[in-house]
Amino acid sequence: MKDFESYISGLREEDNPLLREMEEFAAEHRIPIMDSSGMETFIGLLRIQRPKRILEIGSAIGYSAIRMVSSLKEASVVTIERDKERYASAVDYIERSGFGERITIIEGDALLLSDDMLPPVWYDALFIDAAKGQYKRFFEKYSEFVAKGGIIYCDNMFMHGAVMVPDEEVPKRNRTMIRNLKEFTSWVMKHPDYETSLLPVGDGILVAVKKRD
Ligand code: SAH
Ligand code: MG
Repeated sequence: MKDFESYISGLREEDNPLLREMEEFAAEHRIPIMDSSGMETFIGLLRIQRPKRILEIGSAIGYSAIRMVSSLKEASVVTIERDKERYASAVDYIERSGFGERITIIEGDALLLSDDMLPPVWYDALFIDAAKGQYKRFFEKYSEFVAKGGIIYCDNMFMHGAVMVPDEEVPKRNRTMIRNLKEFTSWVMKHPDYETSLLPVGDGILVAVKKRD
């Protein structure tokens, strides 16, 4: 944790032991939950936006979903996770958090999921935080459920700096993923239906506001 991150977390009045436990579990099992500075910024943005319905792609163990509903009194989250073990941990953590009524978790691959598995509502916010090489496909599939004026947030737009590294220096096994992520980034920044910013916080958070007309 960077100095300012520890400073910020030290300012929190109530220390939620379940969140601390989840952070430790994630570190131990190398589960990439959102880092502390990204999370703090993301929650701040959501508090300004005040979404009621949030759709998340990539629940992992339910950490960001719990952070979102615990910070936004009126919000409910529908979240999708394809990894069986992570899904099972998320179900358990969500139940223990006491926020089970406001979080619906769906097990499955978001790209294969049939639309009628989703509650048929307009979502005010879509949070994409799953396979980084597939962001364009998640965006194309799920943006149609986002209300006009709604916001699409995407995490890990910097991929820990890999998007800034020349293509030939990116390890071969990551090359396609990084290329896809960069292509998605320039595509979405130019998308005429959205007003998009790429925020240099956490691991890079993209904020795309869906135009009203
Ligand atoms: N949002 C979480 C972290 C998610 S990590 C948090 O900050 O707390 C990314 C997760 O996306 C992983 O658990 C991975 O299994 C999941 N994932 C990747 N591709 C997916 C897909 N196509 N459908 C559903 N889940 C996916
Ligand atoms: Mg992430």
